[in-house]
Amino acid sequence: MIANSFEYSKPASLAEVLTQLADGSAKPLAGGMSLIPMMKLRLSSPEKLIDLSGVPGLDAIAESGGTVRVGAMATHHALESSAVLRGKCPLLAETASNIGDVQVRNTGTLGGAAAHADPSADYPAALLALEAKFLVASSKGTRTVDVKDLFVDALSTSLEPGELIQEIQVPVDDSKVGTCYRKVFQPASGYATVGIAVRVRQDGAKITFARVGVTGLASKAFRATAVENALLAGKSVADAAALVNNGVDANSDIHASAEYRKHLAQVTTERAINAALARIA
Ligand SMILES: Cc1cc2nc3c(=O)[nH]c(=O)nc-3n(C[C@H](O)[C@H](O)[C@H](O)COP(=O)(O)OP(=O)(O)OC[C@H]3O[C@@H](n4cnc5c(N)ncnc54)[C@H](O)[C@@H]3O)c2cc1C
Repeated sequence: MIANSFEYSKPASLAEVLTQLADGSAKPLAGGMSLIPMMKLRLSSPEKLIDLSGVPGLDAIAESGGTVRVGAMATHHALESSAVLRGKCPLLAETASNIGDVQVRNTGTLGGAAAHADPSADYPAALLALEAKFLVASSKGTRTVDVKDLFVDALSTSLEPGELIQEIQVPVDDSKVGTCYRKVFQPASGYATVGIAVRVRQDGAKITFARVGVTGLASKAFRATAVENALLAGKSVADAAALVNNGVDANSDIHASAEYRKHLAQVTTERAINAALARIA
């Protein structure tokens, strides 16, 4: 299908983008990997698209003061190949490398993927495990949104009309942390039937810190706190992983029934935790 007609602009500054977004009738356009298909299917019909690709610096990736800052327009390929991320935040680079195919990774962006909030998207699991923050800008100023407050439901975030994700901020992991992202690919698109992001720290045989982010399993990504607490309480990895489905209303679709997804989640959680533990340097 052909999208409804719309206006298009490509401002050369962030201030101009925010001015044009201010009345809430326009939508930001990042990589267009999700927005354009939705417009063609007429699931979305914005009056105006504001192309973010003309804003200099919105794709920067840098580390300072113990925080990695990733500009919203950084592509998945930029994340997977970033020396800064590979050194300071390998979980985010690993997650990016698991997205879709080469074309999607060359075009899609971290900010667009986060704002789209697909329940099978990869980044939300990693961003939850990393306790990321979002610098959100609008014509009224900026605010910081904790990742736990961003994802509201499938395709729904706490962003207000006129707001833009400017930057994603992630605390730098220290050398005693092991991380891993594991997913079961949906064969046609590459989306996560389930995806598990793990960040753990160990002192001798004891796990002293655990963060487990889960995507694909439910209508929105979430932290599996039952798994985290079981690891901290000294339960075996297998017993802790078995708790990933606790209280979860699992998705069921043509790709996987709820029961099968729960099975995949348990197995993938166990594998991801073991891989993260094996990576602790
Ligand atoms: C064939 C295919 C396979 C894919 N496979 C995967 C996969 O395996 N894993 C995965 O996670 N994803 C996958 N994706 C999705 C891909 O990662 C997209 O890039 C992503 O969902 C959207 O990013 P985008 O930059 O293209 O955003 P766009 O499509 O341009 O925008 C998406 C939404 O976010 C809004 N938006 C964009 N940027 C911002 C911003 N900075 N602030 C606020 N709102 C903003 C837009 O207005 C729109 O509503 C796939 C997509 C395709 C087409």
